[in-house]
Amino acid sequence: MHEKCGVVGISLQDRDAARPLYYSLYALQHRGQESAGIVTHDGFQQHSHVEMGLVGDAFDPDDLESLNGANGIGHVRYPTAGSVNACCAQPFSVSFKSGSLGLSHNGNLVNADEIGDELADLGHAFTSDGDTEVIAHDLARNLLEEDLVRAVKRTMNRIHGSYSLTIMHDETVLGVRDPEGNRPLCIGELEDGYVLASESAAIDTLDGELIRDVKPGELVVLHPDGTGYDTYQLVENEETAHCFFEHVYFARPDSTIDENLVYEVRRELGRKLWEESGVESDVVLPVPDSGRAFASGYAEAAQDEGSDIEFAEGLMKNRYVGRTFIMPTQDERERAVRLKLNPIKSTIEGKKVTIIDDSIVRGTTSTQLIQLLKDAGAEEVNVRIGAPPIVAPCYMGIDMASREELIAGDQSVEEICEEIEADSLSYLSIDAVAETLDTSRADLCLGCVTGKYPYDIEGEATDRDVARPDIGAPSPADD
Ligand code: AMP
Repeated sequence: MHEKCGVVGISLQDRDAARPLYYSLYALQHRGQESAGIVTHDGFQQHSHVEMGLVGDAFDPDDLESLNGANGIGHVRYPTAGSVNACCAQPFSVSFKSGSLGLSHNGNLVNADEIGDELADLGHAFTSDGDTEVIAHDLARNLLEEDLVRAVKRTMNRIHGSYSLTIMHDETVLGVRDPEGNRPLCIGELEDGYVLASESAAIDTLDGELIRDVKPGELVVLHPDGTGYDTYQLVENEETAHCFFEHVYFARPDSTIDENLVYEVRRELGRKLWEESGVESDVVLPVPDSGRAFASGYAEAAQDEGSDIEFAEGLMKNRYVGRTFIMPTQDERERAVRLKLNPIKSTIEGKKVTIIDDSIVRGTTSTQLIQLLKDAGAEEVNVRIGAPPIVAPCYMGIDMASREELIAGDQSVEEICEEIEADSLSYLSIDAVAETLDTSRADLCLGCVTGKYPYDIEGEATDRDVARPDIGAPSPADD
């Protein structure tokens, strides 16, 4: 079970958090469309509403009215191929001897089974096979023996993998980012409170100010009265493993992640794509919407060098068709691409065309598009991709595809070019990605493009010195 999602947490001075939580989930809708949920606490008890579907469908005014309290957390869940599962909708909530707990998780643990088995042996009963429930039970258990900060630290010392969490313990809202900082999490200030969110676009939506990213290994505790927050660096880690794919595809272009505005990152990746593998053609067309910023950077770099290449819109997107990627069969995926994108003939007919997309996963979109553009009269179709070839699955929370389904899993760029019937094909180098993000390769999670992961994943190679924690003997919280 993989969790790939958007999380939020809010503490306000003296108004209910439900509406701001609802609006920020709207802002994070692109991170998950399967289910949406909010848990609040009014100082006496927890209130929860979790529903399958989009944010706009999951809550009606009465639901929001019933979510009392100035503190709360929210979640949107990303759909996983073939599993639409109400039991895994979040926030996950649990009541135990020393209080109530709500948890929203973005990421994926790689040792959840070990910890789950251990807790089951100790008598914990699980209602799902999701790793979020494992974190909730582990934390609940630690809270019986420790104060809040030490309990979180103890759980962080046991769990291994990718996690950005917003947690509510009674009426206290917390944010936690894993020691590698794999998924994003940031903190912002509102006129009358504080907010934690997967992406800064959610803070903007509430007219708030981004304060900063939550640091890898850091815990942020919002004051329940909405007047401030405390931070604790619970795990020190010299190396990070930020997911580069957040910048390439997953995050909103108007979000700032780890101090980089995603839109500018994508434009710069587009510029580098021209520098590395620019091809003369009449027109550059973005694959909407994800290729747009890359294509504008690519065209700008080309024009800076004196090229006559024109930037144009050549593909119209039908906004009402869901993501093609998660259609269960290849036949449906192909039909969905055609439903989603239609060519604008005047910018294509008789022209040499270059299309720019952020990534190729299975190859469905590019194969279909090239055929579509040729049918619309393109003389030549070149393909440029703003990321390196995806050669291996993601275990850290992005639904990519299995290794066998990945078109670059066992084929060279030349072979892929032939298969998708492009006139030329180039990808961006890994070094260009690291340089654009102003970091080194060693500080990024590059598992999907190298097949080597920054975590200890069974049956997979790693690119660093990592080991799963010995969960049988948890280190004391104050170690
Ligand atoms: P494919 O058609 O399988 O090659 O997938 C590539 C297309 O899907 C590109 O247009 C990407 O923008 C988009 N894409 C890439 N990664 C994902 C993902 N994890 N979920 C949904 N769509 C994706």
